[in-house]
Amino acid sequence: MTHWQHLIRDVPDFPKPGIVFKDITPLLADRDGFAAAIEAMAAPWREERLDAVVGIESRGFILGAALALALDTGFVPVRKPGKLPARTLSQTYALEYGSDSLHIHADALPVGARVLLVDDVLATGGTLLAAYALARRLEAEVAGAAVLVELDALGGRARWSAPIPLEATLRY
Ligand code: AMP
Repeated sequence: MTHWQHLIRDVPDFPKPGIVFKDITPLLADRDGFAAAIEAMAAPWREERLDAVVGIESRGFILGAALALALDTGFVPVRKPGKLPARTLSQTYALEYGSDSLHIHADALPVGARVLLVDDVLATGGTLLAAYALARRLEAEVAGAAVLVELDALGGRARWSAPIPLEATLRY
């Protein structure tokens, strides 16, 4: 148990009945907790040569931008449809009911850039795998994926099909 884990709060039945939402806003609001969480997320990647952190909208932006500064890299956003202003590549992925898509600017990364994918929570893994696909389509070299929280029961690790390490700071 870390001294900041209690700052991640469970909110039952959000956004839908039956889902227990991991709310990181109390952690973000706590100076020492936020700093310790970012340090813990950064630790496994300190020896990697990285050019950019690729963060997924929207909590992946907050953690990813802080990690980019901690790891001395740039930051590249992966966003929901209709948000990025210039030309994008899009990747569709399955949700429990239906599908969604994620976008990245077509010129966001130079060929061969070494990147780390970042999001707050790994549930089924579909979101991070879609971000992986986008980075690979831009011919980036993906060093790994980092999440603050992994939800074991949702099977994201069992379904993890990308040939890169996946690091979770906390597991529930
Ligand atoms: P998945 O694609 O199923 O791995 O879902 C991961 C995405 O959904 C991440 O961007 C998370 O922010 C969000 N997410 C899924 N489940 C939860 C949860 N229980 N609490 C907070 N965020 C979640």
